[in-house]
Amino acid sequence: MCFSSAPTAAGGSLKPATFTARDYQETAIADARRLVVTHRRLLLVLPTGGGKTCIAALIIRGAIAKGRRVLFLAHRREIIAQSFWKIVDAGVPETSAGVVMANGRITDRTGAAYDARRPLAPVQVASVQTLVRRAQPQADLVFVDEAHHNTADSYQAIASAYLASGAKIVGLTATPCRGDGRGLGDAFDHLHVIAQTSGLIANGYLSEPRCWTLPSPDLKGVRVIKGDYDQAELDKRLNTTKLAADIVREYQRLGDGRTAVVFCVSVAHSKNVCTQFNAAGIPAEHLDAETPTDVRDAILRRLADGTTAVCCNMGVLTEGWDLPRAKYCAVVRPSKSLGLYLQMVGRVLRPWQGVAPIIADHGGCIKMHGLPQEDREWSLDGKEKVAPGAAPTKECPSCGCTVPAAARVCPNCGYEFPEKEIEAAQITELVRVEAEAAQAKLKTDSAILMLRKAVNSAVGKYARSLALANGTEFHAEIKSLNTAIVRHFKKRRPDMTDDELRAARQWIQDMPPPGLSGTIVVPPAPHERPAPNGGVPERKPVTALGDYETWTL
Ligand SMILES: [Zn+2]
Repeated sequence: MCFSSAPTAAGGSLKPATFTARDYQETAIADARRLVVTHRRLLLVLPTGGGKTCIAALIIRGAIAKGRRVLFLAHRREIIAQSFWKIVDAGVPETSAGVVMANGRITDRTGAAYDARRPLAPVQVASVQTLVRRAQPQADLVFVDEAHHNTADSYQAIASAYLASGAKIVGLTATPCRGDGRGLGDAFDHLHVIAQTSGLIANGYLSEPRCWTLPSPDLKGVRVIKGDYDQAELDKRLNTTKLAADIVREYQRLGDGRTAVVFCVSVAHSKNVCTQFNAAGIPAEHLDAETPTDVRDAILRRLADGTTAVCCNMGVLTEGWDLPRAKYCAVVRPSKSLGLYLQMVGRVLRPWQGVAPIIADHGGCIKMHGLPQEDREWSLDGKEKVAPGAAPTKECPSCGCTVPAAARVCPNCGYEFPEKEIEAAQITELVRVEAEAAQAKLKTDSAILMLRKAVNSAVGKYARSLALANGTEFHAEIKSLNTAIVRHFKKRRPDMTDDELRAARQWIQDMPPPGLSGTIVVPPAPHERPAPNGGVPERKPVTALGDYETWTL
């Protein structure tokens, strides 16, 4: 590869930025500056709506001030324009920034065409597709937007050329995983999480979603290709008039006139759902990857100004699309990809006029991936780290909303969960802690054995915490948590086979009923143990795997 021999043009002096960095963005900028010193390929992770372009733009401003040259790589026309203007907002003069794209034209802030070709400018915002075919501009720092896509050969070739020339690479993404569940370890050597969704919600930068787990399709037997469900088979199962009618009905029930985006399984499916909305008198339009650019822009404008209420699409609005007033997200597309799920739901979490975002999950995604606001522990080797695991959820008995299992008050209707339900949630937390301890101690054991030990230990503590006096009550309690426990364990142990999971579930179901052969005994708390001969109570601690060993092991 040969770099074009552009001189390092100073390109005008910096202006004040027109926006102020949030606290966590300031921290992120400082962290990134420190981390690139030791990691030449740094990956920054921030949830959708956290303002990663602001962070990049301010880092770029600082780099320009030091006389460095910067390249910002993106995939889509809209992102290239948005990023260009964000960099200008950060105080980099227009004359110091250029665009490398098919015809070099972007839109200005009024939507008019704007020729941004300035090949000598020290900042270049470039389309990956265009750049592979052209002489690469010189750069000391290369930003890679939506970095989870950048595993293709074209990108790798660009990246290795810049690395060879001594440049640093900084990737940006909300979802550092690929569709097939693999990580980005071959493209980056350090991953830095800037903020979690829960933190952004707590500080008002994102809105807390109201989530509904709606009936989801039976996906048994659907082929899995490259880590996700086969689209043609999904279309066969999900593209039905009944489901389309359900989607419309749920929107009428829950949407309350919100601007909505519906993620469908196929183009035909999206068109059908769109037709059903219109038939119900709700103005809707359909978008897919083949929709011509000007038509797509017009559709999105009508959505933005409220002319239409609903946009049904197939794979178009998952990324790089930003409409704060969109506050209803129907996830109809089941996906094994956590990244895709988070990208879909992330579209509606930006705050807008105090309207709560609604997630209508028709695809079983919450069950599979947890709530959107759940904290994620990312790693470069793919999937989530096994560490904290997915938090369990429960349904509000008053409004039907799906909420974190530990929630004391329903964020949707204000229902206060009784103490007992909160305790039920706590047992899965106990199982989690015990499972971790068991995992650390018993590396050689099979998953199922560890599960048994973990549950044994946790239920003992749980029983004591509830002070359940009789086995019947206790037994019922544990069985009611069967699914939660197994689902939880599956998240924590992705290597467990379906057979092992089935065995685990069966094991809990088969626990001997109380009173039979005296095998179920709730161990008394240490201080309650009757002392021999009626003396001072014995305070011998109950061992972790205690009396429950006798159940089944
Ligand atoms: Zn509720």
